[in-house]
Amino acid sequence: MQVDDSQEPGHREMWLGFPNLAQFCYMNSSLQSLLTLRDFVTDVSRQETVWSSVPEAELIRSFMDIVRCHYSNDFFHKLYVLLLFKILISVQTHEFQDFSQKDAHEFLTSVLNQMGNLAPLLSETAAILGTTYICPVREHLVFKMQNTRTCKSCGFSSVIFEEFSNLSLNLLPGASVQEMLQDILTETELEYRCDCGANTSRQQHNFVTLPRVLILHVKRFCFTQFFKLKKLSHPINLHGELMVSSSQANGWYTLVSVISHLGHGGNAGHYISDGLHPKADVYDSADRWLRYDDLEVTETTRAAVCDQCKKTAYILFYQKRE
Ligand SMILES: [Zn+2]
Repeated sequence: MQVDDSQEPGHREMWLGFPNLAQFCYMNSSLQSLLTLRDFVTDVSRQETVWSSVPEAELIRSFMDIVRCHYSNDFFHKLYVLLLFKILISVQTHEFQDFSQKDAHEFLTSVLNQMGNLAPLLSETAAILGTTYICPVREHLVFKMQNTRTCKSCGFSSVIFEEFSNLSLNLLPGASVQEMLQDILTETELEYRCDCGANTSRQQHNFVTLPRVLILHVKRFCFTQFFKLKKLSHPINLHGELMVSSSQANGWYTLVSVISHLGHGGNAGHYISDGLHPKADVYDSADRWLRYDDLEVTETTRAAVCDQCKKTAYILFYQKRE
């Protein structure tokens, strides 16, 4: 997106914030992190001829309205486009209809699913228009995993392939993200009744494909024995780099955004997003990030975020190094 910052050089980034009408922070932080993914946004934008001609693709048009007003300091216009986006998401995911605090991970997953589900219709339209539609969610975020279950007695294996737009990690206190990722890829034992009569199987998850951007969700919320949502504030070790192996290759990833949940309550608290500065490159040695706390935007660095967000980091966005 071309931005004219000739008027106030160096200050327009401070307008990148989003107003918060009533506990919108889960949406604001999710959107700020998504907007940090420049190639993803560019891919949505460049296919305007397709999504602008499909009435059902209102969600994508609304997303692009948010992108377009990102640098605007028109508070009311921003509030209007954000409200519209929330209304559109809640048509299919009813839990976002009201104005109470919601889970940023559930919101982000809903956004990506709903955008991705439009792909077949948009592909049909693209074909009529003599072009092709490349689903940005699939192209940048979706990856395939293989779940293999093998009977420990007879060795019979069954394989299931599944696609995800993000991966949930168990919160291992004091562990690094790399270790938490390894944890879910480590073979586990599973109680499963095989046709041979045995009851124990081995289970193994593997990446089959690697996404351009890997979104990792740290399970910081759990239910107590009285079914109350509880927040876990154990620290994790955040690093700027991550290595992910698939059955075909290794991928090196760099952290580009973090959504943090502040506060203690399961159904309360506040979300903020930290992300790579819009004018910085992921390969820059100058470490420039921005913190988006609703309307307030402040300069920060990835090093500071990795240090400050150990107890709060909730959703992590890693961009693959090409
Ligand atoms: Zn068996």
